[in-house]
Amino acid sequence: MRYHNITKDDMLNGDGLRVVLWVAGCSHCCKECQNPVTWDPNGGLPFDEAARQEIFDQLDKPYISGITFSGGDPLHSANRFEVRNLMAEIKQKYPDKTIWLYTGDSWENIQHYAIMQYVDVLVDGEFEADKKDVKLLWKGSSNQRVIDVQKTLKQTDTSVPVLHCNDYA
Ligand code: SF4
Repeated sequence: MRYHNITKDDMLNGDGLRVVLWVAGCSHCCKECQNPVTWDPNGGLPFDEAARQEIFDQLDKPYISGITFSGGDPLHSANRFEVRNLMAEIKQKYPDKTIWLYTGDSWENIQHYAIMQYVDVLVDGEFEADKKDVKLLWKGSSNQRVIDVQKTLKQTDTSVPVLHCNDYA
């Protein structure tokens, strides 16, 4: 896996103050994507031990609410396996911190992925420029959804997502 950035004390990509990992690799090619530099899975830097430690150093801080995986697409085939392993390690070490995941894929396609057992909140769907609204909470376009994954997985019908929050603050 490769990545572009690790941002700290981030307030724009999930509840509380978060550490955010921006991975390389996305095949959704959304029109007017704000991060096309992240599309190439060979771009950025190798996700090495120093990067991993940078994340854990942030999660060690009591005021950090958790980690957000963004990009790029953390579920791109170049990332999915390593992201899942990293999430498993984080959940074990920091059970009270939350894991958010941004992907261009939709809940209906990915609900059965094993990685979902570690995700607290999923922001799903491609960015649709004609549905862009800067006032939306945690998402860029109104087709996207901010999903409470664990509540959704507890339902009999998991295909109907339970939303984590309303569209607007
Ligand atoms: S899924 Fe996200 S990173 Fe990928 S093209 Fe769409 S907006 Fe850009």
